Amino acid sequence: ASGYSLLRDPHHNKGLAFSEKERDAHYLRGLLPPTCISQEIQVKKMLHNLRQYQVPLQRYMAMMDLQEMNERLFYKLLIDHVEELLPVVYTPTVGEACQKYGCIFRRPQGLYISLKEKGKILEVLKNWPERNIQVIVVTDGERILGLGDLGCQGMGIPVGKLSLYTALGGIRPSACLPVTIDVGTNNEQLLKDEFYIGLRQKRATGQEYAELLHEFMAAVKQNYGEKVLIQFEDFANHNAFELLAKYSTSHLVFNDDIQGTASVVLAGLVAALKLVGGTLAEHTFLFLGAGEAGTGIAELIALEMSKQTKAPVEETRKKIWLVDSKGLIVSSRKDTLQHFKKPWAHEHEPVDTLLGAVKTIKPTVLIGSSGVGRTFTKEVIEAMSSFTEKPVILALSNPTSQSECTAEEAYTWSKGRAIFASGSPFDPVLYNGKLFVPGQANNAYIFPGLGLGLVISGAIRVHDDMLLAASEALAQQVTQENFANGLIYPPFSIIRKISAQIAANVAAKAYELGLATRLPRPADLVKYAESCMYTPAYRSYR
Ligand code: NAP
Ligand code: MN
Repeated sequence: ASGYSLLRDPHHNKGLAFSEKERDAHYLRGLLPPTCISQEIQVKKMLHNLRQYQVPLQRYMAMMDLQEMNERLFYKLLIDHVEELLPVVYTPTVGEACQKYGCIFRRPQGLYISLKEKGKILEVLKNWPERNIQVIVVTDGERILGLGDLGCQGMGIPVGKLSLYTALGGIRPSACLPVTIDVGTNNEQLLKDEFYIGLRQKRATGQEYAELLHEFMAAVKQNYGEKVLIQFEDFANHNAFELLAKYSTSHLVFNDDIQGTASVVLAGLVAALKLVGGTLAEHTFLFLGAGEAGTGIAELIALEMSKQTKAPVEETRKKIWLVDSKGLIVSSRKDTLQHFKKPWAHEHEPVDTLLGAVKTIKPTVLIGSSGVGRTFTKEVIEAMSSFTEKPVILALSNPTSQSECTAEEAYTWSKGRAIFASGSPFDPVLYNGKLFVPGQANNAYIFPGLGLGLVISGAIRVHDDMLLAASEALAQQVTQENFANGLIYPPFSIIRKISAQIAANVAAKAYELGLATRLPRPADLVKYAESCMYTPAYRSYR
């Protein structure tokens, strides 16, 4: 290939980091200014440039441009400065990027499969330049973050999630495939927007929807085999649970909003027990919000309790209560409950409000997953603190504006007794002379390592026990020093180490369950996981 095209190939381009010898060998003489610099200096320069931008969306666009220009530099930068750059390439900035995706769209970064491609999806997959795909993240754009239906512009989410699979979990970039399925949108604003990039029609539902999804799932298996991981992302809950149930027996599927959230929150709870005492089964849980996140977390807690106590899950569920938009979920409620709520309809009088539910259920753990902000009021937190020495309070709703309460409120209203973590990050809080550091229950702790574990073991199905294995590995990474600050999650700066531990634990479970196809089983799975991880250092072309 010519030197000119080498500079324009993001997989191989090194920019000013091409050495003198490489410049001679690859016809690059004169195409670059005389200076040769290291990747470290390039990282420093990019970071310097990024920090000049005051508007987060500009930083996002600069990162996407870099990904398109020099992939290894993009990943080196992201890995070395993960705490600073995660909010740029993922939430919250990616949300704004999706809202404005039509405007900022430059080059496609993933595969678009719309109703127009019906009957031709296998051909569409073959148009993608890479053959060896290991992880697909797919959305239909109906519930992007907390922002609702963004239709085809949801593509920012699979693109962002997969860049985290690479940066945090070490999946090779070329093995990642972002997909958006476009069945229309019910977002009136987008339908009227002249820059909208998707189909201009209302969402297809029912059989038409199911058929397109089915064709996609079949084509993926036919084209990439049984070991490709398909992560469903940001589907509305009326489709999410069904798709997961339907394909979990025939494909390697995982829903991050349901299962990834569950695994990361369970890890936080297991760690929190070290601070508050008792076993899971000795606690009582109350959720505000009974959707994908709420019922997903509840189910995994019940499963873990059942493993620990040997009691059937039908029994352990009784320690867990959920409130939805109509009040406490109880069997005496008159409305028909969606099927994913039914296991939680315990016997109890109807209770309309969260405060009422807190007062009668007397939970020791309160989890917010409704997407509605400011719902953990002073009264709610004071009530929690009145019958528990150290209430565990998780305000998971995103973005920050939707958080059930702030870290400061949780610590102040509980008089410094709450163990608090949230979905969106909060700064440390100084209360009564003591510094409290709130943890962030970020799904990015779990899914990259989980995905790596599935890939390196050649797993063909995701089993709930693997989610438990991932939680366990994450909880074990919390140190005494972290606990001393009230933290129930380890620092994000060591995420690649965490991912390797999670991957090893998940892979071990896959072998144990007979779901692994990569044989023989490597003796040291942590070492093996680490050895499989993509690193973004430049290669030399000689
Ligand atoms: P979802 O499936 O739409 O579920 C939302 C649930 O909240 C539903 O059960 C809904 O009740 C209930 N709800 C809505 N308004 C309410 C109100 N005013 N009072 C009481 N309940 C109310 O959404 P999801 O996927 O579970 O996500 C929920 C939130 O969790 C989002 O903000 C998301 O950002 C956050 N989340 C955080 C993490 C994390 O921290 N790692 C992970 C995933 C999700 P009905 O069923 O009655 O409509
Ligand atoms: Mn999501």
